Parts: sequence; C-alpha cells; structure tokens
Amino acid sequence: MAKFCKNCGLEIKEGSLYCEKCGSPVDSAPVVNQVPTTYPSQPTYQGVPNKTNSLAIAGFIVSLVSLVCCSPAAVISLILSIIGLNESKKCANEGKGLAIAGIVISVIALLFLILIICIYAIGIFSIYDTPYYY
Ligand SMILES: [Zn+2]
Repeated sequence: MAKFCKNCGLEIKEGSLYCEKCGSPVDSAPVVNQVPTTYPSQPTYQGVPNKTNSLAIAGFIVSLVSLVCCSPAAVISLILSIIGLNESKKCANEGKGLAIAGIVISVIALLFLILIICIYAIGIFSIYDTPYYY
C-alpha cells in the first residue's frame, strides 16, 4: 500500500517517514506525535538560592525586635527589608510579603523612635525652661 506526499504528490517508499523529493513528513507518520511538548515544564526551582528569603526574614525579625526594644536597629532592618524586597522581585515571590511587613514595621519603629526622641527633647527643654519660673 503506497503512500503519497501531501505536499508534492510523489509516491513514498514504504517505511520512509519523509518525502524523498521535498522532504516534508509523510502524512500519518508517527514522527509528529513524538514531539515532546510536556517535557520542559519541569520547574528549575531548586536552583534558586534561599538568600532572598533569609534577607527578608532577617529584616522582618530585626524590625520586630527594634519595634519592641525601640532600638535604632530599625534602620538596619529597613535596609535589609528593602534589599529583600528587591531580591524577591527579581527571583521568586517568596519572602516578598515578609519584606513588605519588615519595611512597614521598621518605619513604625523608626516613627516611635523619633517620637520618643521628641518627648525626651521636650523634656530636656522643659528642664531648661524651669529655672525661668523660679
Ligand atoms: Zn514531497
């Protein structure tokens, strides 16, 4: 049972998968089905380093600690969290939420710190002021 090329009409020898004349694949040839389309979707996830995550986590933890302790380390955690956010944008999305939380907490901690400094400053000024009321 002879096959004919659907492109040029040439008779194709039994067993050959391509037309001798124009090179187009023979109709009903199994070659077309062999193209692996389900293969390359394997995730290359494991190669992504944990660096982004650890930066975001570190920023988050330092920001929490500096919020509780009212420490100037909030500056460090703010920087760590911003770097972590940038890194998480580049790579996987992991750690992005943590980085944003770290930035927010750092800003709150810094605002608290500034508030406390202001209160102390007002306190110091009021001490300086008191001699005038003698
Ligand atoms: Zn042909």
